[in-house]
Amino acid sequence: MNTSKTYSFQSESKELLKLMIHSLYSNKEIFIRELISNASDAIDKLRFLSISEPKKYPINTNYCINITIDKKLNKLTISDNGIGMEEHEIINNLGTIAKSGTKKFIQSLKSNNSSHQHELIGQFGVGFYSSFIVSKKVLVQTRSAKLKINEGFLWESYGKGDYTIQKIEKKEFGTDIILYFKKTEQEFIHHWKIQELINKYSDHINVPINIKKFNKKQNEYTWEQVNKAQALWVLNKSEISNQEYINFYKHLTKDSQEPLTWTHNKVEGNQEYIILLFIPSKTPWNIWSREHKHGLKLYINKVFIMEDTEQFLPNYLRFVKGLVDSNDLPLNISREILQNNQIIQKIRQTITKKLLNTLQNLFNNDIKKYYVFWQQFGTILKEGPAEDPQNRQFIMNLLLFTSLKHNNSEQTLSLKKYTTNMAKGQNKIYYITSDSYESAKNSPHLEIFLKNDIDVLLLFEKIDEWMMNYLNEYEDKKFCPANKPDDFINKLIIPQINEQNLQNKMQPFLEKIKKILGNKIKDVRVTYKLVHTPSILVTEAKEMSTQMAKLFSAAGQ
Ligand code: ADP
Ligand code: MG
Repeated sequence: MNTSKTYSFQSESKELLKLMIHSLYSNKEIFIRELISNASDAIDKLRFLSISEPKKYPINTNYCINITIDKKLNKLTISDNGIGMEEHEIINNLGTIAKSGTKKFIQSLKSNNSSHQHELIGQFGVGFYSSFIVSKKVLVQTRSAKLKINEGFLWESYGKGDYTIQKIEKKEFGTDIILYFKKTEQEFIHHWKIQELINKYSDHINVPINIKKFNKKQNEYTWEQVNKAQALWVLNKSEISNQEYINFYKHLTKDSQEPLTWTHNKVEGNQEYIILLFIPSKTPWNIWSREHKHGLKLYINKVFIMEDTEQFLPNYLRFVKGLVDSNDLPLNISREILQNNQIIQKIRQTITKKLLNTLQNLFNNDIKKYYVFWQQFGTILKEGPAEDPQNRQFIMNLLLFTSLKHNNSEQTLSLKKYTTNMAKGQNKIYYITSDSYESAKNSPHLEIFLKNDIDVLLLFEKIDEWMMNYLNEYEDKKFCPANKPDDFINKLIIPQINEQNLQNKMQPFLEKIKKILGNKIKDVRVTYKLVHTPSILVTEAKEMSTQMAKLFSAAGQ
Protein backbone atom coordinates (compact mmCIF):
# COMPACT_ATOMS: atom_id res chain seq x y z
CA MET A 1 0.00 0.00 0.00
CA ASN A 2 1.40 3.35 -0.95
CA THR A 3 0.97 6.25 1.37
CA SER A 4 -0.30 9.46 -0.05
CA LYS A 5 1.41 12.80 0.28
CA THR A 6 -0.52 15.97 0.91
CA TYR A 7 0.37 19.20 -0.87
CA SER A 8 -0.99 22.67 -0.62
CA PHE A 9 -2.09 24.57 -3.70
CA GLN A 10 0.09 27.51 -4.59
CA SER A 11 -1.58 30.54 -3.07
CA GLU A 12 -2.58 32.10 -6.38
CA SER A 13 -4.19 28.85 -7.42
CA LYS A 14 -6.27 28.86 -4.25
CA GLU A 15 -7.55 32.32 -4.91
CA LEU A 16 -8.22 31.49 -8.51
CA LEU A 17 -10.16 28.36 -7.63
CA LYS A 18 -12.42 30.22 -5.27
CA LEU A 19 -13.07 33.07 -7.63
CA MET A 20 -13.62 30.82 -10.57
CA ILE A 21 -16.20 28.67 -8.93
CA HIS A 22 -18.24 31.75 -8.16
CA SER A 23 -17.84 33.90 -11.20
CA LEU A 24 -18.00 31.21 -13.83
CA TYR A 25 -20.96 29.39 -12.45
CA SER A 26 -23.32 30.60 -15.14
CA ASN A 27 -21.07 29.02 -17.76
CA LYS A 28 -20.24 25.91 -15.84
CA GLU A 29 -20.74 23.55 -18.79
CA ILE A 30 -17.44 24.64 -20.33
CA PHE A 31 -15.61 22.19 -18.05
CA ILE A 32 -16.32 19.49 -20.60
CA ARG A 33 -14.75 21.49 -23.41
CA GLU A 34 -11.66 22.17 -21.29
CA LEU A 35 -11.14 18.57 -20.21
CA ILE A 36 -11.61 17.19 -23.71
CA SER A 37 -9.26 19.78 -25.09
CA ASN A 38 -6.61 18.69 -22.55
CA ALA A 39 -7.14 15.04 -23.46
CA SER A 40 -6.76 15.85 -27.12
CA ASP A 41 -3.57 17.86 -26.44
CA ALA A 42 -2.14 14.92 -24.51
CA ILE A 43 -2.85 12.59 -27.44
CA ASP A 44 -1.29 15.03 -29.90
CA LYS A 45 1.87 15.08 -27.80
CA LEU A 46 2.16 11.32 -27.69
CA ARG A 47 1.35 10.87 -31.33
CA PHE A 48 4.20 13.20 -32.15
CA LEU A 49 6.69 11.46 -29.87
CA SER A 50 5.81 8.01 -31.10
CA ILE A 51 6.60 9.10 -34.63
CA SER A 52 9.68 11.17 -33.96
CA GLU A 53 11.19 8.87 -31.31
CA PRO A 54 9.74 5.47 -32.14
CA LYS A 55 12.37 3.59 -30.09
CA LYS A 56 11.50 5.39 -26.88
CA TYR A 57 7.77 5.40 -27.52
CA PRO A 58 7.08 2.24 -29.50
CA ILE A 59 3.42 2.84 -29.42
CA ASN A 60 0.92 1.92 -32.00
CA THR A 61 -2.50 2.47 -30.69
CA ASN A 62 -5.94 3.65 -31.49
CA TYR A 63 -5.94 7.03 -29.92
CA CYS A 64 -9.27 7.94 -28.41
CA ILE A 65 -11.07 9.75 -25.62
CA ASN A 66 -13.52 7.60 -23.67
CA ILE A 67 -16.28 8.87 -21.45
CA THR A 68 -18.18 6.86 -18.87
CA ILE A 69 -21.01 8.02 -16.69
CA ASP A 70 -21.98 6.46 -13.38
CA LYS A 71 -25.36 7.74 -12.33
CA LYS A 72 -25.35 6.01 -8.96
CA LEU A 73 -22.09 7.56 -7.91
CA ASN A 74 -22.73 10.91 -9.59
CA LYS A 75 -19.52 10.39 -11.44
CA LEU A 76 -18.11 11.20 -14.87
CA THR A 77 -14.81 9.81 -16.20
CA ILE A 78 -12.92 11.21 -19.16
CA SER A 79 -10.08 8.91 -20.20
CA ASP A 80 -7.41 9.43 -22.81
CA ASN A 81 -4.50 7.34 -24.02
CA GLY A 82 -2.26 10.33 -24.44
CA ILE A 83 1.13 11.22 -22.98
CA GLY A 84 0.10 11.11 -19.30
CA MET A 85 2.01 12.81 -16.50
CA GLU A 86 4.92 11.98 -14.21
CA GLU A 87 4.76 12.99 -10.57
CA HIS A 88 6.60 16.30 -10.97
CA GLU A 89 4.45 17.13 -13.97
CA ILE A 90 1.30 16.61 -11.93
CA ILE A 91 2.57 18.99 -9.29
CA ASN A 92 3.64 21.57 -11.85
CA ASN A 93 0.58 21.35 -14.05
CA LEU A 94 -2.23 20.81 -11.60
CA GLY A 95 -0.91 22.32 -8.38
CA THR A 96 0.54 25.60 -9.54
CA ILE A 97 -0.29 28.15 -12.12
CA ALA A 98 3.06 29.36 -13.24
CA LYS A 99 1.72 31.28 -16.14
CA SER A 100 2.28 34.96 -16.32
CA GLY A 101 -1.30 35.89 -17.10
CA THR A 102 -2.72 34.50 -13.86
CA LYS A 103 -2.59 37.74 -11.92
CA LYS A 104 -4.36 39.53 -14.73
CA PHE A 105 -6.96 36.83 -14.93
CA ILE A 106 -7.63 37.05 -11.21
CA GLN A 107 -8.00 40.81 -11.50
CA SER A 108 -10.40 40.40 -14.35
CA LEU A 109 -12.49 37.93 -12.40
CA LYS A 110 -12.51 40.29 -9.44
CA SER A 111 -13.48 43.28 -11.51
CA ASN A 112 -16.77 41.56 -12.08
CA ASN A 113 -17.75 43.74 -15.00
CA SER A 114 -16.84 41.41 -17.80
CA SER A 115 -19.50 39.12 -19.10
CA HIS A 116 -16.88 37.17 -20.99
CA GLN A 117 -14.96 35.88 -18.02
CA HIS A 118 -15.56 32.26 -18.85
CA GLU A 119 -14.02 32.85 -22.22
CA LEU A 120 -10.81 33.96 -20.59
CA ILE A 121 -10.24 30.64 -18.92
CA GLY A 122 -8.97 28.93 -22.03
CA GLN A 123 -6.67 31.81 -22.87
CA PHE A 124 -5.12 31.86 -19.45
CA GLY A 125 -4.47 28.15 -19.38
CA VAL A 126 -6.44 27.35 -16.27
CA GLY A 127 -8.90 25.03 -17.97
CA PHE A 128 -8.43 22.07 -15.68
CA TYR A 129 -9.66 24.03 -12.67
CA SER A 130 -13.03 24.53 -14.29
CA SER A 131 -13.86 20.97 -13.17
CA PHE A 132 -14.32 22.31 -9.67
CA ILE A 133 -17.19 24.53 -10.72
CA VAL A 134 -19.38 21.43 -10.91
CA SER A 135 -17.46 18.86 -8.86
CA LYS A 136 -17.06 18.42 -5.15
CA LYS A 137 -14.15 16.11 -5.74
CA VAL A 138 -11.81 15.51 -8.68
CA LEU A 139 -9.47 12.55 -9.17
CA VAL A 140 -6.75 12.33 -11.76
CA GLN A 141 -5.30 8.92 -12.48
CA THR A 142 -2.39 9.17 -14.79
CA ARG A 143 0.63 7.30 -16.08
CA SER A 144 3.25 8.76 -18.31
CA ALA A 145 3.79 6.85 -21.55
CA LYS A 146 7.45 6.83 -20.54
CA LEU A 147 6.90 4.92 -17.30
CA LYS A 148 5.98 1.41 -16.22
CA ILE A 149 2.65 0.03 -15.03
CA ASN A 150 3.47 0.51 -11.34
CA GLU A 151 4.52 4.11 -11.84
CA GLY A 152 1.11 5.64 -12.18
CA PHE A 153 -0.16 8.37 -9.87
CA LEU A 154 -3.43 9.33 -8.33
CA TRP A 155 -4.10 13.01 -7.67
CA GLU A 156 -7.08 13.87 -5.54
CA SER A 157 -8.60 17.13 -4.43
CA TYR A 158 -11.75 18.78 -3.14
CA GLY A 159 -10.63 22.03 -4.71
CA LYS A 160 -10.18 23.72 -1.35
CA GLY A 161 -6.70 24.27 0.00
CA ASP A 162 -4.83 21.11 -0.81
CA TYR A 163 -4.50 17.95 -2.81
CA THR A 164 -2.92 14.54 -2.35
CA ILE A 165 -0.79 12.41 -4.61
CA GLN A 166 -0.10 8.70 -4.29
CA LYS A 167 1.58 6.11 -6.43
CA ILE A 168 -0.73 3.59 -8.07
CA GLU A 169 -0.70 0.86 -10.64
CA LYS A 170 -2.28 1.89 -13.89
CA LYS A 171 -2.59 -0.65 -16.67
CA GLU A 172 -2.85 1.76 -19.57
CA PHE A 173 -0.75 4.87 -20.02
CA GLY A 174 -2.67 8.11 -20.31
CA THR A 175 -4.99 9.99 -18.02
CA ASP A 176 -8.41 9.51 -16.45
CA ILE A 177 -10.09 12.59 -15.10
CA ILE A 178 -12.81 11.55 -12.67
CA LEU A 179 -15.38 14.07 -11.53
CA TYR A 180 -17.75 13.58 -8.60
CA PHE A 181 -20.49 16.08 -9.26
CA LYS A 182 -21.94 18.24 -6.55
CA LYS A 183 -25.47 17.32 -5.53
CA THR A 184 -26.74 20.39 -7.36
CA GLU A 185 -25.22 19.38 -10.68
CA GLN A 186 -27.33 16.35 -11.56
CA GLU A 187 -27.87 17.54 -15.11
CA PHE A 188 -24.44 16.33 -16.17
CA ILE A 189 -25.02 12.66 -15.41
CA HIS A 190 -27.16 12.11 -18.49
CA HIS A 191 -25.65 10.71 -21.66
CA TRP A 192 -27.67 12.95 -23.89
CA LYS A 193 -26.50 16.02 -22.01
CA ILE A 194 -22.84 15.14 -22.30
CA GLN A 195 -23.29 14.23 -25.93
CA GLU A 196 -24.98 17.54 -26.61
CA LEU A 197 -22.11 19.43 -25.00
CA ILE A 198 -19.52 17.49 -26.97
CA ASN A 199 -21.31 18.28 -30.19
CA LYS A 200 -21.52 21.90 -29.19
CA TYR A 201 -17.92 22.38 -28.16
CA SER A 202 -15.77 19.52 -29.33
CA ASP A 203 -17.06 18.14 -32.59
CA HIS A 204 -13.91 18.95 -34.53
CA ILE A 205 -11.53 17.23 -32.10
CA ASN A 206 -9.66 14.91 -34.44
CA VAL A 207 -9.63 11.79 -32.29
CA PRO A 208 -12.76 9.73 -31.65
CA ILE A 209 -14.70 10.65 -28.53
CA ASN A 210 -16.68 7.63 -27.34
CA ILE A 211 -19.40 7.41 -24.72
CA LYS A 212 -20.13 4.12 -22.99
CA LYS A 213 -23.80 3.31 -23.27
CA PHE A 214 -25.99 0.42 -22.34
CA ASN A 215 -27.27 -1.24 -25.48
CA LYS A 216 -30.64 -2.77 -24.70
CA LYS A 217 -30.74 -4.98 -27.78
CA GLN A 218 -27.41 -6.58 -27.12
CA ASN A 219 -27.93 -6.34 -23.39
CA GLU A 220 -24.42 -5.03 -22.87
CA TYR A 221 -22.37 -1.87 -22.70
CA THR A 222 -20.97 -0.56 -25.97
CA TRP A 223 -18.92 2.46 -26.99
CA GLU A 224 -20.60 4.96 -29.21
CA GLN A 225 -18.55 7.53 -31.09
CA VAL A 226 -20.14 10.96 -30.77
CA ASN A 227 -17.94 13.26 -32.85
CA LYS A 228 -16.77 13.29 -36.45
CA ALA A 229 -13.13 12.88 -35.45
CA GLN A 230 -11.77 14.32 -38.63
CA ALA A 231 -9.17 17.00 -39.13
CA LEU A 232 -11.27 19.84 -40.46
CA TRP A 233 -8.61 21.31 -42.69
CA VAL A 234 -8.18 18.21 -44.86
CA LEU A 235 -11.81 18.40 -45.95
CA ASN A 236 -12.80 20.33 -49.03
CA LYS A 237 -14.04 23.85 -48.49
CA SER A 238 -17.44 22.91 -49.84
CA GLU A 239 -17.83 20.33 -47.08
CA ILE A 240 -17.26 22.82 -44.29
CA SER A 241 -19.90 25.22 -43.04
CA ASN A 242 -19.09 28.70 -41.77
CA GLN A 243 -20.16 27.65 -38.31
CA GLU A 244 -17.69 24.76 -38.42
CA TYR A 245 -14.89 27.12 -39.36
CA ILE A 246 -15.88 29.41 -36.52
CA ASN A 247 -16.03 26.60 -33.97
CA PHE A 248 -12.70 25.32 -35.14
CA TYR A 249 -11.19 28.78 -34.81
CA LYS A 250 -12.43 29.09 -31.26
CA HIS A 251 -10.98 25.73 -30.37
CA LEU A 252 -7.68 26.50 -32.04
CA THR A 253 -7.16 29.90 -30.51
CA LYS A 254 -9.21 29.80 -27.31
CA ASP A 255 -10.64 33.06 -28.54
CA SER A 256 -14.27 33.50 -27.56
CA GLN A 257 -15.08 35.84 -30.43
CA GLU A 258 -15.65 34.91 -34.01
CA PRO A 259 -12.88 35.56 -36.51
CA LEU A 260 -13.36 38.41 -38.99
CA THR A 261 -12.51 36.22 -41.93
CA TRP A 262 -10.40 33.24 -42.97
CA THR A 263 -8.67 31.63 -45.92
CA HIS A 264 -8.35 27.91 -46.51
CA ASN A 265 -6.18 26.55 -49.31
CA LYS A 266 -4.71 23.33 -50.54
CA VAL A 267 -1.49 24.10 -52.33
CA GLU A 268 -0.33 21.53 -54.83
CA GLY A 269 2.71 21.26 -57.03
CA ASN A 270 6.34 20.91 -55.93
CA GLN A 271 5.34 21.45 -52.37
CA GLU A 272 2.09 20.12 -51.04
CA TYR A 273 0.51 21.68 -48.03
CA ILE A 274 -2.71 22.98 -46.60
CA ILE A 275 -3.10 26.33 -44.92
CA LEU A 276 -6.02 27.48 -42.83
CA LEU A 277 -5.61 31.05 -41.64
CA PHE A 278 -7.86 33.27 -39.58
CA ILE A 279 -7.95 37.02 -39.00
CA PRO A 280 -9.18 37.51 -35.41
CA SER A 281 -11.62 40.26 -34.59
CA LYS A 282 -9.79 41.46 -31.53
CA THR A 283 -6.21 42.06 -30.44
CA PRO A 284 -5.15 39.72 -27.65
CA TRP A 285 -4.55 41.59 -24.40
CA ASN A 286 -0.83 40.84 -24.44
CA ILE A 287 0.06 41.33 -28.08
CA TRP A 288 2.52 44.11 -27.26
CA SER A 289 4.28 42.22 -24.50
CA ARG A 290 7.41 40.20 -25.03
CA GLU A 291 5.68 37.12 -23.76
CA HIS A 292 3.15 37.22 -26.53
CA LYS A 293 3.72 34.22 -28.72
CA HIS A 294 2.62 34.23 -32.28
CA GLY A 295 2.89 32.02 -35.30
CA LEU A 296 0.99 29.17 -36.82
CA LYS A 297 0.47 25.62 -35.69
CA LEU A 298 2.55 23.21 -37.69
CA TYR A 299 1.21 19.80 -38.64
CA ILE A 300 2.95 17.25 -40.79
CA ASN A 301 0.53 14.83 -42.37
CA LYS A 302 -2.09 15.68 -39.76
CA VAL A 303 0.32 15.04 -36.89
CA PHE A 304 0.66 18.04 -34.65
CA ILE A 305 4.31 19.12 -34.52
CA MET A 306 4.58 22.49 -32.81
CA GLU A 307 2.81 25.63 -31.67
CA ASP A 308 3.66 29.20 -32.52
CA THR A 309 5.77 28.56 -35.59
CA GLU A 310 6.76 32.17 -36.24
CA GLN A 311 8.68 31.35 -39.38
CA PHE A 312 5.50 31.08 -41.41
CA LEU A 313 4.46 34.67 -40.88
CA PRO A 314 6.12 38.00 -41.44
CA ASN A 315 6.11 40.11 -38.30
CA TYR A 316 3.60 42.57 -39.61
CA LEU A 317 1.04 39.75 -39.89
CA ARG A 318 1.75 38.33 -36.44
CA PHE A 319 -1.87 38.69 -35.38
CA VAL A 320 -2.91 35.93 -37.77
CA LYS A 321 -3.91 32.56 -36.31
CA GLY A 322 -4.10 29.23 -37.99
CA LEU A 323 -2.19 26.22 -39.16
CA VAL A 324 -0.03 24.74 -41.84
CA ASP A 325 -0.14 21.04 -42.64
CA SER A 326 2.75 19.99 -44.84
CA ASN A 327 3.41 16.69 -46.56
CA ASP A 328 7.04 17.39 -47.33
CA LEU A 329 8.75 18.45 -44.13
CA PRO A 330 10.62 15.86 -42.06
CA LEU A 331 8.91 14.95 -38.79
CA ASN A 332 12.01 15.62 -36.73
CA ILE A 333 12.13 19.22 -37.87
CA SER A 334 13.41 21.64 -35.24
CA ARG A 335 12.92 25.35 -34.82
CA GLU A 336 16.52 25.92 -35.89
CA ILE A 337 15.98 24.07 -39.14
CA LEU A 338 12.76 25.97 -39.75
CA GLN A 339 14.74 29.17 -39.60
CA ASN A 340 16.83 28.49 -42.68
CA ASN A 341 14.66 26.15 -44.61
CA GLN A 342 13.90 26.90 -48.25
CA ILE A 343 10.57 25.12 -48.16
CA ILE A 344 9.50 27.23 -45.21
CA GLN A 345 10.52 30.41 -47.00
CA LYS A 346 8.35 29.44 -49.96
CA ILE A 347 5.39 28.54 -47.79
CA ARG A 348 5.77 31.84 -45.98
CA GLN A 349 5.69 33.76 -49.24
CA THR A 350 2.53 31.99 -50.29
CA ILE A 351 0.94 32.55 -46.90
CA THR A 352 1.81 36.24 -47.04
CA LYS A 353 0.25 36.60 -50.49
CA LYS A 354 -2.88 34.73 -49.43
CA LEU A 355 -3.28 36.87 -46.35
CA LEU A 356 -2.82 40.13 -48.20
CA ASN A 357 -5.40 38.95 -50.72
CA THR A 358 -7.76 37.99 -47.94
CA LEU A 359 -7.43 41.45 -46.45
CA GLN A 360 -7.91 43.07 -49.83
CA ASN A 361 -11.09 41.04 -50.31
CA LEU A 362 -12.35 42.10 -46.93
CA PHE A 363 -11.61 45.69 -47.87
CA ASN A 364 -13.42 45.36 -51.20
CA ASN A 365 -16.41 43.38 -50.02
CA ASP A 366 -17.03 44.24 -46.41
CA ILE A 367 -15.56 47.61 -45.58
CA LYS A 368 -17.24 47.74 -42.15
CA LYS A 369 -15.42 44.59 -41.14
CA TYR A 370 -12.26 45.98 -42.64
CA TYR A 371 -12.56 49.05 -40.40
CA VAL A 372 -12.77 46.71 -37.42
CA PHE A 373 -9.68 44.97 -38.66
CA TRP A 374 -7.85 48.24 -39.13
CA GLN A 375 -8.77 49.51 -35.71
CA GLN A 376 -7.43 46.36 -34.09
CA PHE A 377 -4.41 45.57 -36.21
CA GLY A 378 -3.67 48.57 -38.44
CA THR A 379 -0.76 49.69 -36.28
CA ILE A 380 0.86 46.30 -36.75
CA LEU A 381 0.19 46.20 -40.47
CA LYS A 382 1.96 49.55 -40.73
CA GLU A 383 5.23 47.69 -40.10
CA GLY A 384 4.69 46.01 -43.46
CA PRO A 385 6.13 48.56 -45.90
CA ALA A 386 9.47 48.48 -44.07
CA GLU A 387 9.58 44.75 -43.51
CA ASP A 388 8.34 43.53 -46.85
CA PRO A 389 9.51 45.65 -49.80
CA GLN A 390 8.28 43.01 -52.25
CA ASN A 391 4.70 43.47 -51.20
CA ARG A 392 4.95 47.15 -50.38
CA GLN A 393 2.64 48.31 -53.15
CA PHE A 394 0.09 45.73 -52.14
CA ILE A 395 0.25 46.70 -48.48
CA MET A 396 -0.14 50.37 -49.37
CA ASN A 397 -3.57 49.57 -50.74
CA LEU A 398 -4.52 48.28 -47.31
CA LEU A 399 -3.46 51.34 -45.33
CA LEU A 400 -6.05 53.68 -43.93
CA PHE A 401 -5.64 57.28 -42.83
CA THR A 402 -7.50 60.23 -41.58
CA SER A 403 -6.96 63.58 -43.22
CA LEU A 404 -7.34 67.31 -42.96
CA LYS A 405 -10.72 67.21 -44.68
CA HIS A 406 -11.99 64.43 -42.43
CA ASN A 407 -13.86 65.62 -39.41
CA ASN A 408 -12.53 63.12 -36.94
CA SER A 409 -9.56 60.96 -36.08
CA GLU A 410 -11.06 57.76 -37.46
CA GLN A 411 -8.86 56.24 -40.11
CA THR A 412 -11.06 55.40 -43.08
CA LEU A 413 -9.31 57.01 -46.04
CA SER A 414 -7.32 54.83 -48.44
CA LEU A 415 -4.52 56.10 -50.63
CA LYS A 416 -6.58 55.19 -53.65
CA LYS A 417 -9.36 57.46 -52.50
CA TYR A 418 -6.94 60.23 -51.63
CA THR A 419 -5.34 60.14 -55.05
CA THR A 420 -8.62 60.06 -56.97
CA ASN A 421 -9.78 63.15 -55.07
CA MET A 422 -6.64 65.20 -55.53
CA ALA A 423 -6.86 68.88 -56.44
CA LYS A 424 -6.27 70.10 -59.97
CA GLY A 425 -2.58 70.07 -60.77
CA GLN A 426 -1.68 68.24 -57.57
CA ASN A 427 0.63 65.31 -58.16
CA LYS A 428 1.92 64.57 -54.71
CA ILE A 429 0.46 62.99 -51.61
CA TYR A 430 0.81 65.44 -48.76
CA TYR A 431 1.05 64.28 -45.18
CA ILE A 432 2.02 65.53 -41.79
CA THR A 433 3.28 63.59 -38.78
CA SER A 434 2.79 64.62 -35.20
CA ASP A 435 2.33 63.36 -31.63
CA SER A 436 -1.42 63.51 -31.61
CA TYR A 437 -4.37 63.89 -33.89
CA GLU A 438 -5.10 67.33 -32.47
CA SER A 439 -1.65 68.71 -33.03
CA ALA A 440 -1.48 67.26 -36.53
CA LYS A 441 -4.82 68.69 -37.49
CA ASN A 442 -4.09 72.12 -36.05
CA SER A 443 -0.60 72.42 -37.42
CA PRO A 444 -0.08 75.92 -38.92
CA HIS A 445 1.64 74.21 -41.84
CA LEU A 446 -1.75 73.09 -43.03
CA GLU A 447 -3.35 76.53 -43.23
CA ILE A 448 -2.31 77.03 -46.82
CA PHE A 449 -3.63 73.56 -47.72
CA LEU A 450 -6.96 74.19 -46.10
CA LYS A 451 -7.27 77.53 -47.82
CA ASN A 452 -6.69 75.89 -51.20
CA ASP A 453 -8.85 72.84 -50.53
CA ILE A 454 -5.96 70.39 -50.74
CA ASP A 455 -6.20 67.38 -48.49
CA VAL A 456 -3.35 66.26 -46.20
CA LEU A 457 -2.97 62.88 -44.51
CA LEU A 458 -2.73 63.27 -40.76
CA LEU A 459 -0.36 60.81 -39.09
CA PHE A 460 -0.04 60.69 -35.34
CA GLU A 461 0.88 57.16 -34.29
CA LYS A 462 4.35 56.35 -33.02
CA ILE A 463 5.11 54.13 -35.98
CA ASP A 464 3.99 56.59 -38.65
CA GLU A 465 7.13 58.64 -39.08
CA TRP A 466 9.13 55.45 -39.44
CA MET A 467 6.67 53.94 -41.88
CA MET A 468 6.72 57.08 -44.04
CA ASN A 469 10.44 56.59 -44.55
CA TYR A 470 9.54 53.50 -46.53
CA LEU A 471 6.75 54.99 -48.58
CA ASN A 472 8.22 56.81 -51.54
CA GLU A 473 5.38 56.86 -53.95
CA TYR A 474 1.98 55.44 -54.60
CA GLU A 475 0.82 55.04 -58.20
CA ASP A 476 3.50 57.42 -59.44
CA LYS A 477 2.61 60.04 -56.86
CA LYS A 478 5.36 60.96 -54.49
CA PHE A 479 4.73 61.41 -50.78
CA CYS A 480 5.61 64.87 -49.55
CA PRO A 481 5.65 66.17 -45.97
CA ALA A 482 3.33 69.16 -45.71
CA ASN A 483 5.82 71.06 -43.58
CA LYS A 484 8.63 71.09 -46.14
CA PRO A 485 9.05 73.47 -49.09
CA ASP A 486 7.21 72.28 -52.16
CA ASP A 487 6.86 73.90 -55.59
CA PHE A 488 3.20 73.19 -56.09
CA ILE A 489 2.30 74.69 -52.74
CA ASN A 490 4.69 77.61 -53.18
CA LYS A 491 2.89 78.56 -56.36
CA LEU A 492 -0.33 78.89 -54.43
CA ILE A 493 1.13 81.55 -52.23
CA ILE A 494 0.36 84.97 -53.56
CA PRO A 495 2.41 87.63 -51.86
CA GLN A 496 0.13 90.54 -51.11
CA ILE A 497 2.81 93.12 -50.82
CA ASN A 498 5.88 93.70 -52.89
CA GLU A 499 8.13 90.98 -51.63
CA GLN A 500 11.46 92.73 -51.71
CA ASN A 501 10.01 95.71 -49.94
CA LEU A 502 8.60 93.65 -47.14
CA GLN A 503 11.81 91.68 -46.77
CA ASN A 504 13.73 94.93 -46.43
CA LYS A 505 11.23 96.41 -44.08
CA MET A 506 11.29 93.35 -41.87
CA GLN A 507 15.07 92.95 -41.88
CA PRO A 508 15.76 94.66 -38.52
CA PHE A 509 13.04 92.56 -36.91
CA LEU A 510 14.39 89.33 -38.41
CA GLU A 511 17.90 90.20 -37.22
CA LYS A 512 16.64 90.82 -33.73
CA ILE A 513 14.94 87.43 -33.52
CA LYS A 514 18.05 85.74 -34.89
CA LYS A 515 20.09 87.36 -32.19
CA ILE A 516 17.71 86.27 -29.46
CA LEU A 517 17.49 82.66 -30.59
CA GLY A 518 21.20 82.43 -31.42
CA ASN A 519 22.43 79.04 -32.60
CA LYS A 520 19.18 77.34 -31.76
CA ILE A 521 18.08 78.21 -35.26
CA LYS A 522 19.57 78.50 -38.72
CA ASP A 523 17.67 81.39 -40.20
CA VAL A 524 14.60 83.60 -39.85
CA ARG A 525 12.58 84.37 -42.97
CA VAL A 526 9.39 86.02 -44.07
CA THR A 527 6.67 83.61 -45.18
CA TYR A 528 3.36 84.03 -47.00
CA LYS A 529 2.38 80.45 -46.31
CA LEU A 530 0.56 81.16 -43.09
CA VAL A 531 -3.03 82.28 -42.98
CA HIS A 532 -3.83 82.76 -39.29
CA THR A 533 -0.66 81.95 -37.40
CA PRO A 534 2.03 84.63 -37.00
CA SER A 535 5.11 82.39 -36.98
CA ILE A 536 6.18 78.83 -37.56
CA LEU A 537 9.15 76.52 -37.07
CA VAL A 538 10.26 74.72 -40.24
CA THR A 539 12.98 72.35 -41.37
CA GLU A 540 14.72 72.42 -44.71
CA ALA A 541 13.69 70.01 -47.43
CA LYS A 542 16.63 67.67 -46.95
CA GLU A 543 16.71 67.71 -43.17
CA MET A 544 15.26 65.35 -40.65
CA SER A 545 11.70 66.24 -39.83
CA THR A 546 10.91 67.68 -36.43
CA GLN A 547 8.92 64.59 -35.57
CA MET A 548 11.83 62.32 -36.47
CA ALA A 549 14.18 64.53 -34.47
CA LYS A 550 11.88 64.13 -31.49
CA LEU A 551 11.95 60.37 -31.87
CA PHE A 552 15.73 60.36 -31.99
CA SER A 553 16.08 62.54 -28.97
CA ALA A 554 13.58 60.38 -27.09
CA ALA A 555 15.75 57.39 -27.96
CA GLY A 556 18.73 59.25 -26.50
CA GLN A 557 20.56 59.96 -29.74
P1 ADP B 1 -3.66 24.34 -20.49
O1 ADP B 1 -4.37 23.22 -21.16
O2 ADP B 1 -3.98 25.66 -21.09
O3 ADP B 1 -2.18 24.14 -20.38
P2 ADP B 1 -5.07 23.37 -18.22
O4 ADP B 1 -5.40 23.92 -16.88
O5 ADP B 1 -6.21 22.95 -19.04
O6 ADP B 1 -4.20 24.43 -18.99
O7 ADP B 1 -4.09 22.16 -18.03
C1 ADP B 1 -2.90 22.33 -17.32
C2 ADP B 1 -1.86 21.31 -17.71
O8 ADP B 1 -2.15 20.05 -17.13
C3 ADP B 1 -1.76 21.01 -19.18
O9 ADP B 1 -0.93 21.95 -19.84
C4 ADP B 1 -1.14 19.63 -19.20
O10 ADP B 1 0.26 19.72 -19.07
C5 ADP B 1 -1.69 19.01 -17.96
N1 ADP B 1 -2.84 18.15 -18.29
C6 ADP B 1 -4.14 18.43 -18.12
N2 ADP B 1 -4.92 17.44 -18.55
C7 ADP B 1 -4.09 16.48 -19.03
C8 ADP B 1 -4.27 15.17 -19.62
N3 ADP B 1 -5.48 14.69 -19.84
N4 ADP B 1 -3.15 14.50 -19.97
C9 ADP B 1 -1.92 14.99 -19.77
N5 ADP B 1 -1.68 16.19 -19.22
C10 ADP B 1 -2.74 16.93 -18.85
MG1 MG C 1 -6.38 23.09 -21.23
